[in-house]
Amino acid sequence: MNSFHFQNPTKLLFGAGMLNQLGQEVSAYGKKVLLVYGGGSIRATGLYDRIQQQLKHIQAVVHELSGVEPNPRLSTVRKGIAICREQGIDFILAVGGGSVLDAAKAIAVGVPYNGDVWDFLMRKAEIHSALPLGTVLTLSATGSEMNGNSVITNWEENLKKSFGSLHAYPKFSILDPTLTYTVPANQTVNGIVDMMSHVFEQYFSPTTNTPLQERLCESILQTVIENGEIALASPDNYEARANLMLCGTYALNGGMISVGMQNDWATHMIEHEVSAIYDIAHAEGLSILFPNWMKYVFKERMERFVQFAVRVWGIHPEGRTEEEIALAGIQATRDFFTRIGAPSRLSELGIDAKDVDRMAKETVRFGPVGAFKPLGEADVRQIIEMSL
Ligand code: NAP
Ligand code: FE
Repeated sequence: MNSFHFQNPTKLLFGAGMLNQLGQEVSAYGKKVLLVYGGGSIRATGLYDRIQQQLKHIQAVVHELSGVEPNPRLSTVRKGIAICREQGIDFILAVGGGSVLDAAKAIAVGVPYNGDVWDFLMRKAEIHSALPLGTVLTLSATGSEMNGNSVITNWEENLKKSFGSLHAYPKFSILDPTLTYTVPANQTVNGIVDMMSHVFEQYFSPTTNTPLQERLCESILQTVIENGEIALASPDNYEARANLMLCGTYALNGGMISVGMQNDWATHMIEHEVSAIYDIAHAEGLSILFPNWMKYVFKERMERFVQFAVRVWGIHPEGRTEEEIALAGIQATRDFFTRIGAPSRLSELGIDAKDVDRMAKETVRFGPVGAFKPLGEADVRQIIEMSL
């Protein structure tokens, strides 16, 4: 195990009815609030009115930024920054899924910065401060509710980049599983794939002697698999939605499940460059790329893949070579994604070989990606080609 720092400042309010505490939580940060939300799901579900009621109760002055896109765009973030500066906003409240939360974080770090927020995503500047933000999560997937990460698309240049900063952690996040009952089946599937992928990025690590972290990862994966299928069959099953929500938060909250381990993140980096050009859902790309990444790298440290197959998927090792066990675990992952309805080939989404070079080149803009097996441009190209 490696030495580590771990710090996570986000307060969680978890459970049915926690929305009633929103007003009180916001009031600690000031009166002028920017409410950030997406394309209208919060209006359709009635959540918008409940939020407004809470804010009215504390006499907040509310400004709005609506229409945050799935794969949130830099242009929208810039709009939000302008509103905050013009109106002297004290606090940002993000209500939605990962896209809304990520946009709110980029706005929060952009407001006090004397330059263009895109600098942070291109690693040209460091983040030193941010406006405080809080979240009400409506979709279990990204972990954005309890981490400092944000992924933003520059649509004009077809680039999708991320930043991570301690300043961008939400001050609080309200996690009410009942708010996810209305998440449609395809987005529930996306959430399942994304949270499992976050665990993979940490679990498939070159670091050894980390039995606690490995078991934490394995138990999150098993809990997602069990509860994901229940939530898909009965979308308003409280316990299934609650367990999925907690798994999403644990899977990516500043690395609590993988302290002392080197993380990989290559597959996320590759996926970002695919969705930067094709605007597909993040998890659709992950569902296609991850099993192919696994096939490409598993021989690097086969024992971790054997452990994965046996402990997570219940593969029986008897009569099989290590390689066969590892491959059976990878196949079980592919089969699960396919069974719940996630795509397996880029061609299903209308993506052909035309942009492979561009995507591979952009993935390694800041150097080789990954830790389990560091990948250069040629490796990335091969993984994308295997995924076509
Ligand atoms: P999302 O893009 O936030 O939302 C997907 C869709 O679900 C939207 O159309 C949204 O509609 C709808 N939706 C959300 N909640 C709903 C509800 N309760 N009922 C009905 N519909 C609902 O999805 P996401 O998977 O959470 O976020 C994906 C983004 O996060 C990608 O850009 C990805 O790259 C990024 N990401 C971030 C992190 C991180 O650590 N920060 C990690 C992984 C991925 P409305 O727009 O109408 O609300
Ligand atoms: Fe992700």
